[in-house]
Formats: sequence, C-alpha cells, structure tokens
Amino acid sequence: MGHFCVNCGTALVPRVLEGREVEACPRDGFILWHDPKVSTAVVVEAEGGIVLGRRAIEPGYGRWCLPGGFVNDDEDPAVAAVRECREEICVPVELTGLIGVYHIPKADAPSMVGIAYKGRLVDGSVPAAGVEMLEVAVFPPESLPQLAFPSHTKVVADYLRSLAPAEEAAPPPDRAAAQRAARP
Ligand SMILES: [Zn+2]
Repeated sequence: MGHFCVNCGTALVPRVLEGREVEACPRDGFILWHDPKVSTAVVVEAEGGIVLGRRAIEPGYGRWCLPGGFVNDDEDPAVAAVRECREEICVPVELTGLIGVYHIPKADAPSMVGIAYKGRLVDGSVPAAGVEMLEVAVFPPESLPQLAFPSHTKVVADYLRSLAPAEEAAPPPDRAAAQRAARP
C-alpha cells in the first residue's frame, strides 16, 4: 500500500475488483495490477547434448542454467527466447517446440510464468559465453550438472521425458517371444 498513480501522481486508494483488493486512482481510474513476470528458458539441442551456461551474475552466480530470460512488455515470448540465446550463448537458435508453461512462485516478488521451448543451433554455429555467462558447454543428458534454478531442473526433466515417451508408457514388446509363439 501507499503507492501513487503513474499517470497523475494522486495517492492510490483500495478498491475491490473481481474479489481482489487492488490500488486504484480515484481521479483517472488507473489500477496498479500485480502481474506475474514472464520469463523464457530454452533447451538448446546440440551435437552431444544440450547447451548450458554458467552464470556470471546473481542470482545463481557460478552455477549452470538454461539460456533464457525476461520477456519485454512488447515482445513475443518466442522472439524473447531467441534474443536471450543470442545474448547469453551467442548463437542463432531456431525454436523447434514448446516444452511447457510453468508457474514459478516467489516468496519476495511477483510470481513468474516460465515458458520453456526447445530449440536447435542454426547450422554450424558454435556457442560462446555472453557477458552474463562465465562459460558455456554442451552436456550429455546423462551427466548434467546441478542447475541454478528449480524451474530449469523441472524443464530439463520434462524435456528428457519427452524424448522417450513410449518407453515409459509401455515396455516394448518382446518380438522374439511373439515370433516363437506364432510358430506352428
Ligand atoms: Zn491518476
């Protein structure tokens, strides 16, 4: 509480809208919405695994993460994801699919909506560390490092699961046994 209108500077007053108390301007109707922040992450497939960067900034300094970041207010999330890849791992990335949309609760800030894509390196491009990364590397799925953010860990787990859906849903039939059974 105790905020002022961004349009006219008048002190905002409480108002109930759709069952939630918000702060509104009594003069021009401005409403201070507390919206979630929208962020992207990309599982970039490369030869030998996926591309991770080791963070040169807080939060998570020194730890590995997926490339990605916040979506600007006028930006398509897919465009933001590609832009962040260019900034953080210095390569053009082509998005190839959506992994999922994630609610990321925060104790001390607005919650986040995370949009996770998978993508691939555009032919011949080699990742390199952008200014927000100490280094970048390609990790095989079976030896991934611990990631800086639980949301990224979840994204990678969902990605890996999506690679082998058939194995989890049903074990492959034993063809040899089926052939033996079919013999007269
Ligand atoms: Zn106002």
